[in-house]
Formats: sequence, structure tokens, C-alpha cells
Amino acid sequence: MKQPKREDAAGKEACQVCRVTYSVFSIMPAMPAAMALNVETGEFFLMDTLHAYSTGHDIAEALGYAWACDCHERNAEQRFDEQFMLKDHSGEGLAGVRYRVRAGSSVIAGGVTDSQGRTQRILTRDSRRLTLEIHGQV
Ligand SMILES: [Zn+2]
Repeated sequence: MKQPKREDAAGKEACQVCRVTYSVFSIMPAMPAAMALNVETGEFFLMDTLHAYSTGHDIAEALGYAWACDCHERNAEQRFDEQFMLKDHSGEGLAGVRYRVRAGSSVIAGGVTDSQGRTQRILTRDSRRLTLEIHGQV
């Protein structure tokens, strides 16, 4: 069942994730020493920086769970979808090349390019900087 939508601080319709996030953090007192965790990146940051955000969605994004949001474009149905294509100097696809794809320090995909030199499709929840590593032709 869909929850009724209400306005968030920015005047847009907010989903429950954004609304609840905002209502919790907007009444949170200042806590100079407290740390918060971005659950997606695993990075800790000062909890008080959350007070700088004006919408629940921005806060959810800072905490790494904005993918659960239902009211902004960047939701689970519209993940970023990337595919690399390897070509030689003449523009021909390079088949059978071993590759690995990294997002930061973690390997998120790997394999061998197909007959047209394409990697598999790589889905990420947000637009990350992906690095393609080439490990030679099979
Ligand atoms: Zn939302």
C-alpha cells in the first residue's frame, strides 16, 4: 500500500523515507562529537553536518540509503547502468579480453569481453566513478 505523500522542506512531494528521515534529524540536537555512518561507502562523518541539509532526501543520501527513496528520480528502478566496449585502433571490438571493474577499491565485476568487445552490464545505485582494468587477451 502506498503511503500518502506530504510536502518536504523543499516543497516537493516526499516519500516516507525522506519524510521520516527529515523528521528525525530536524529535531536532533547538536552533538559535536557524534559520528554518523554512510552505510553505502562505509565512511564516517560528523553527525552535525547533517543539519546543513534542508531535505530528508539529502540526509538519506549522506547516510547512504537514498536508494530506498521513492520520490526522487534516482530510485531502485532507475539505477545507473554502464557497459564498456573495448576496441582496437581500427575500431574493431576486442573479444576475449579479461577485465575487472572497480568502484573505488572494491571489484564489482569481472570477466571476459564478448565477441563484440563488450563487458557485462554493470549496475550501480548511483553514478560512481568506475575503473576498468584490462588483464590481457585470453
Ligand atoms: Zn524520497
